[in-house]
Amino acid sequence: MKFDYISILASGDCPCACDFCIGKGTGHGFPTFAPMHDILSFLEENKGKTSEVSISGSSTDPLFTNSTSIECIIKAARSYKYKVVSLHTHVFNQRTKDVVSMVDELCVSINNADDLRAFKALNLKLDNVRVSSVLTSKNVEWLNSGELFKLGVDRFTIRKNVFEKDVDMGFKLPEGSLFKCKIFGNDIFMTKEGQAIALWNYSETNEKCNAKYLWADGLERNQDYWNVFYSSVLNPGVAIGDYRVFEKYGIKIKRDGK
Ligand code: SF4
Repeated sequence: MKFDYISILASGDCPCACDFCIGKGTGHGFPTFAPMHDILSFLEENKGKTSEVSISGSSTDPLFTNSTSIECIIKAARSYKYKVVSLHTHVFNQRTKDVVSMVDELCVSINNADDLRAFKALNLKLDNVRVSSVLTSKNVEWLNSGELFKLGVDRFTIRKNVFEKDVDMGFKLPEGSLFKCKIFGNDIFMTKEGQAIALWNYSETNEKCNAKYLWADGLERNQDYWNVFYSSVLNPGVAIGDYRVFEKYGIKIKRDGK
């Protein structure tokens, strides 16, 4: 079986308290990944089934784990010849600078003007950076101001807040040509012609992405587990088999002056 990607998740306490965090309150103790022997088995077992390994978090940020974990995971993924190693983070400090050159893609969570300022202060090269934002009633005005889209990054993902999924935020996609991307994949993200913005809408999904996750407890779970984990939040009363998780709507916009 082939996968869109596999993912290694950190879990534990998070010092941040983002109100849109789907993992808040679920992690306890020092932030950690699964034991390294489980990570190595996971990478070995899935080599050849996907080209991408993502390093991300469930209840905490991967950069809050101890200083060697991520480096070891990246090196291990390289040794198993995965083509793309991505890191997803909301932490903008020296550690971010230390690991950015080791990954193929850095996905940064920028949700307001403070996040944007902190990220800009790192002064990173932006070629391999994708921005992910959660659209909430608190930041919609800022997102609509367009400040984020002037960052100089080509790829954005805007995810609706699962805690406000039925709220019409009034988010306005920047002008451009709208096209649909059914499967969690690279189609819209590989373009270098302009910016690509993908809008994830949990309530209008029609296709599940095919991914496998190694959770910090050492267990492997597929995409459906997110819905089991957050079932009361995401889809109350809906049978697990009926869950529809992801669809992306992408919009390409041209950068000023290009
Ligand atoms: S930094 Fe990430 S894990 Fe921590 S509260 Fe915010 S969204 Fe959740």
